[in-house]
Amino acid sequence: MKVYADNAATTAMSQTAIQAMLPYFDKIYGNPSSLHSIGQEAKEALENARATVAQCLGCEPREILFTSGGSEADNQAIISAARFGARMGKKHIITTAFEHHAVLHTLNRLEKEGFEVTYLDVSHGHNITAQQVKDAIRPDTALVTVMYANNEIGSILPIPEIGAICKAAGVTFHTDAVQAVGHLHINVREQNIDMLSLSGHKFHGPKGVGALYVRKGFPLVNIIEGGAQERGKRAGTENIPGICGMAAAMKEACDNIDKNMPKVAAMRDKLIAGLSQIPHCALNGDPVNRLPGNVSFCFEGIEGESLLLFLDAKGISASSGSACTSGSLDPSHVLLAIGRVHDVAHGSLRLSLSEYNTMEEMDHILTAVPEVVQYLRNMSPVWRDLQTGKRTYIL
Ligand SMILES: *Cc1c(COP(=O)(O)O)cnc(C)c1O
Repeated sequence: MKVYADNAATTAMSQTAIQAMLPYFDKIYGNPSSLHSIGQEAKEALENARATVAQCLGCEPREILFTSGGSEADNQAIISAARFGARMGKKHIITTAFEHHAVLHTLNRLEKEGFEVTYLDVSHGHNITAQQVKDAIRPDTALVTVMYANNEIGSILPIPEIGAICKAAGVTFHTDAVQAVGHLHINVREQNIDMLSLSGHKFHGPKGVGALYVRKGFPLVNIIEGGAQERGKRAGTENIPGICGMAAAMKEACDNIDKNMPKVAAMRDKLIAGLSQIPHCALNGDPVNRLPGNVSFCFEGIEGESLLLFLDAKGISASSGSACTSGSLDPSHVLLAIGRVHDVAHGSLRLSLSEYNTMEEMDHILTAVPEVVQYLRNMSPVWRDLQTGKRTYIL
């Protein structure tokens, strides 16, 4: 049995999204900036896609900017807010310690330029509280950038409460909602979000395309310079097939949230209940406010990489920490931020589900994971030391 359980890394494309893209490869291949009819047909498709994305988020079409993905949207949002803040002498930014690298590395660059960044502690309950944000806001705070939901451990952050606090304090609020769009109900107006990043390939759309919502009037800074596309804020000929595919996938996902959420959450809860039976393990992430598709555990005495290889041999595609950190020896910054020590963080497993998974697949995972964990522990010198008392258990 083949089980794809790595939907936080990327998703299979929906047939609806694929069909929505096809005409723009061979029939309506025009450049939206061209004045002839084939160009104008592409322009119309672009603006229809913009209206669809805007409708899903509860904003106006002109508040949507198409980008090459979530990373670019994060970069542009943060750099723009930093430049705007700096013009008014505000050079303090608030974020969390478990953001995606697209956010953290952009902030690192700003720190080198003299910005000060507060990284909110996420070790209590593997989440933050809105109060932590409120307490961190200063007169010179230019931006609060806090993810909507964490990609590794699934915690859903208190975004509406944070939005209200930022609005009251007059601080710009950006959220990396890449893991939330299409999976949770989002309304940028009601939730007082000034900027929001999203990415097509996390909700069964194509890779290499995303969007940034920016509240109208907010001064954006270009990351890509060149032509006047996207109201002059993002140069380059628009990725029309990608944008149309993303918009179709987003509409499909948003229209079906109420149907998919309980279905996916039931599979998640079955896995969490079953895997919790494995001795010396711990669930990562907020147990209550949690993405419907996220299951994340640490197993003591094993290496997550070995676990992945053995699961792959059993047909299961999973992940250990984030896809971006695999290949490096450092454990995930997210697991360290929630307080897992190095040894424990190395033994992590993330199973991320979508509505394309089935309960039969969960049964297969629940047979395979305990077997592989036991097999690896039997070979592990660390596990032997734990069992003989030469080392003490952490979990
Ligand atoms: C995947 C992801 C990104 C990056 O999106 P890309 O479209 O792959 O650039 C950013 N933030 C989070 C939380 C993600 O999960």
